[in-house]
Order: sequence, then C-alpha cells, then structure tokens
Amino acid sequence: MGAGRLTASEEETQAVARELSATLRAGDVVLLSGDLGAGKTTFVRGLAEGLGIDPREVSSPTFTIVHEYRGLGLTLYHADLYRLESAATDDLGLEEIGVNDGVLAIEWPDRLSHELPGARVVRLEMVTDSSRRITIGPADAGPDDRR
Ligand code: ADP
Ligand code: MG
Repeated sequence: MGAGRLTASEEETQAVARELSATLRAGDVVLLSGDLGAGKTTFVRGLAEGLGIDPREVSSPTFTIVHEYRGLGLTLYHADLYRLESAATDDLGLEEIGVNDGVLAIEWPDRLSHELPGARVVRLEMVTDSSRRITIGPADAGPDDRR
C-alpha cells in the first residue's frame, strides 16, 4: 500500500474503497485528500457501496457540510470542508459524529484545525485523465502513541 495503487477508472477507484470499507468499524474516520477532481467523492461512493448504501445517494455536499447515509449496518457520514475556514471546523463537532453507529469520511481534511487521532489517511492523485494513484496510509498515530 505504501507505493499506492493505480486505478484506471472510476469503478476501479470505487473497488479500492470497497476493500477499505470492509475494515471499517463504528467510530472510524477516513480522511480524503487530493485536488479537485482527484476522486475523493468517487471514493466515498465506493465506501458507501461497501457499507450497503446506494452509491447514487452520495453527492458532493454543497451547502450541507455533513451528509448522512443510512445503510443496513454502519451509517456513513460524509463531510466536505472545501468551503470552510479551518476555524469554522471547530464548531462542527466532527469528533462526536459517527462514534456510535458510523464511519465519517472527510474531504479536504487540511481544513481541520486539529487532528483526528486514529484516522485512516487516503491520498488521491491524478495521473492522467482516467487514472489515479491512491495511497492509503496507516491510521494516524494519536498523541499517546506518537514516537
Ligand atoms: P473530488 O471529490 O476529488 O473533487 P470527484 O470524485 O468528484 O473528485 O470526481 C472525480 C472525477 O474524475 C469524476 O468525474 C470521475 O469520473 C473522474 N475519474 C476519471 N478517472 C478516475 C479514476 N481512476 N478514479 C476516480 N475518478 C476518476
Ligand atoms: Mg468531492
């Protein structure tokens, strides 16, 4: 995983996300970074599929900052912080979202004013029009187990 996976289509990117979704538990956070058009929202559709949610429900949150999609098991919370100043992310209470019943996926996590310990870090890079490199990092070390 360190070198990243190359996908050649939207479907392949969703398949990588489905694989990741199989490892997710309630309270998990997935941070999605990458430029506009890199495939962050596409990746969230794959997470949705993996959690038993209709991927067509997933859209780019515009005025709603956090969307909620209820599946059969875990609920998927989807936040897009693109339009937010980092100070404003303090008020969202993202730490509390999803801890009981769901998974939280965050686009543009660089807007966060503080870290979310334990989050999975997914980085998407545009290689060509139709291919993307996806690097899935280990869970971010929390303050306690940082070396
Ligand atoms: P973001 O949320 O990062 O701005 P989107 O997921 O909304 O990006 O859009 C990604 C765009 O790139 C879509 O139009 C999608 O069809 C296109 N695309 C082309 N190739 C890929 C690929 N390999 N993986 C994901 N998306 C791809
Ligand atoms: Mg998006």
